[in-house]
Amino acid sequence: MAHRYPESALFYRRLDRGFPLAVRGEGAWIVDETGRRYLDACGGAMVAVAGHGVAEIAEAIASQARQLAYVNGSQFTNAAAEDLAAELAELLPEPLRYSYFLASGSEAIEAAVKLARQFWYERGRPEKWKVIRRNPSYHGNTLAALALSGREHYRRIYRPLLLDFPSIPAPDLYRHPGADCPACNGEALAAELAAQGPETVAAFLAEPILGSSGGAVVPPPHYYRRVAELCREHDVLYIADEVLTGCGRTGRWFAFQHYDPVPDVVVLGKGLNGGYSPLSAVVASREIAATLAGGSGAFNHAQTYSHHPVTCAAGAATVRYLKRHRLVERCAAVSAGFFAELATLRDHPAVGDVRGAGLLAGIELVRDRATREPMPRDWRFAERLVESAREEGLIVWPNVGHADGTRGDLVMVAPPLTVTEEEVAEIGARLRRALAATPMAGPEEPDPVA
Ligand code: PLP
Repeated sequence: MAHRYPESALFYRRLDRGFPLAVRGEGAWIVDETGRRYLDACGGAMVAVAGHGVAEIAEAIASQARQLAYVNGSQFTNAAAEDLAAELAELLPEPLRYSYFLASGSEAIEAAVKLARQFWYERGRPEKWKVIRRNPSYHGNTLAALALSGREHYRRIYRPLLLDFPSIPAPDLYRHPGADCPACNGEALAAELAAQGPETVAAFLAEPILGSSGGAVVPPPHYYRRVAELCREHDVLYIADEVLTGCGRTGRWFAFQHYDPVPDVVVLGKGLNGGYSPLSAVVASREIAATLAGGSGAFNHAQTYSHHPVTCAAGAATVRYLKRHRLVERCAAVSAGFFAELATLRDHPAVGDVRGAGLLAGIELVRDRATREPMPRDWRFAERLVESAREEGLIVWPNVGHADGTRGDLVMVAPPLTVTEEEVAEIGARLRRALAATPMAGPEEPDPVA
């Protein structure tokens, strides 16, 4: 049967094309039903940190499901959730300590924002509720998470349903490299706090190193020093969204560890479970938990699958696998070779920038490298490049709209932390061929570089 609409009863992620049926994963490779092998250079959606097909993680999940699949977090605790929380408390610096487990990044972001609000409420500061977000950014696709996200093409048709959170421009060092740029030196946050009235602001939400929304921008250290100073001065919690960057992706366990300030709340997802089971976490500081413990006695939040034994077993097994095989250290060690390989793509006229950290790279695709003019959106260059890559048996992740809400094409490269040198070379070779096969032109126009 064709794996496409309308033949199949599955509501596919796209209704205008077919999908290969994946049947197996091995390391950095996905195999489809015909035996065709795809090099997964983005870990699905920057998820598969430990690689595909790790038997010991699968065994841990099966064993937990056999022993105890489900208890409700309001009635029981369970060993898998206790183990994973203890692992994270050991990995995270003080004062981060208390993990609340959920199933997806979007849910965890919303829970983190609720937690920040509840914290100030119980501190006798009910006027503090606003969350300042950045643009571009991505924090999830459920309504509140989307309202907190600066990703215009996801937001556009849902705008009437979205809460209006204040936003500031995210650092974009490619287009605004100057030290005096308010988006890159933290002054945009200072101005927004003043405009909103800092007494009304509960939290600042940011990805420490930008994920797919900004194409792996690595803000300068003074940016987060200024953020921390402002948050301290105005009693604003710093929520670090590490759904994409957490658990080793950037060469440190957590991307905020590239900087001095420690957030008040960290949100984890993707790499926490390596793709083996849907799992996310909100990790709160001692002070936040103590405030609730000394006040209402509970986080005013509940979901059926919080603290789920099987997904927490997947998380604990993933974290232990990363630790045992020293994959975070490995990620840091192979990063230079990875970026050297991707830097060879700069020869192509569409490649404006290659940036990132660890094994997280954003490749910025532009119409004109001299002026850094983005690709016209109707060229759909990022999407066509990803399609050409798939034809080469290479999976990379597209993103669009980060430059001005509409334009700004990127591809993300983020292979499993187990990726070998040969596979890195193969990623470069296949991307080069995919670039060569993707005309820099709109559907009706001749290719100016052909
Ligand atoms: N936050 C970041 C930084 C993400 O990259 C994502 C997903 O891509 C999310 C939150 C939302 O996570 P999920 O898709 O699991 O809901």
